[in-house]
Amino acid sequence: MIIVLLGAPGAGKGTLAGAIKDQLGVHHISTGDLIRAEIKAGSVIGLEIKRYVESGGLVPDEVVTRMIEGKVKETAADKKGYMFDGFPRTSAQASDLDKVLAANGLVIDFALYMEASLNVVLQRLTGRRVCRKCGALYHLKNMPSRKEGVCDVCTGELYQRADDNEETIKKRIVVYNDQTKPIIDFYKLQEKLHTVNADTGAEDVRKALIQILNGKKS
Ligand code: AMP
Repeated sequence: MIIVLLGAPGAGKGTLAGAIKDQLGVHHISTGDLIRAEIKAGSVIGLEIKRYVESGGLVPDEVVTRMIEGKVKETAADKKGYMFDGFPRTSAQASDLDKVLAANGLVIDFALYMEASLNVVLQRLTGRRVCRKCGALYHLKNMPSRKEGVCDVCTGELYQRADDNEETIKKRIVVYNDQTKPIIDFYKLQEKLHTVNADTGAEDVRKALIQILNGKKS
């Protein structure tokens, strides 16, 4: 199964993937996570792309596509399938993803558009906290950890992403509307688009995805 998760920053793509990837047995590939890992490692690429992330802009297409290509090549043979989270984010990336998959004999099954309203994504992003150690996601109000500042899963420290400040969030939403939203039509044209209301809780979205998957099997 190959699924692409689409939606604004804060729509809940990472939370959904975290909640369902084990059940589906797919690889969860988040370009945001791959990019943050490069920056944290201080690699040549990491140093190059840091400024894009910090300003709320997009990392150049060829850099992210190369990352995805590497991950797919590394894992395609196990036939587990994928859940792409945060990729593609531009029309060029959407075409590139089809090509990268085709080169490995693979094709996207569907794209899930998680439609969320602006006030909901703003509230989610400003309150989001992430575990420094295992990457688990929390929210100060909607999904707090049992102990403040400490991850329930691994007791790692929770932190606020540098780009989850109000100014950068606004820029990321503008970038999303300009560059990412148009690719919804790319998947509509391919008749692969499913839309879910992502203003509801994470569990409702998970159930909606399961329903879509069950419909696919029958
Ligand atoms: P995310 O964790 O998905 O919210 O991504 C955080 C940041 O990483 C984004 O604001 C971009 O700067 C960068 N990024 C993540 N995925 C992509 C992508 N597919 N293309 C370009 N930049 C990306």
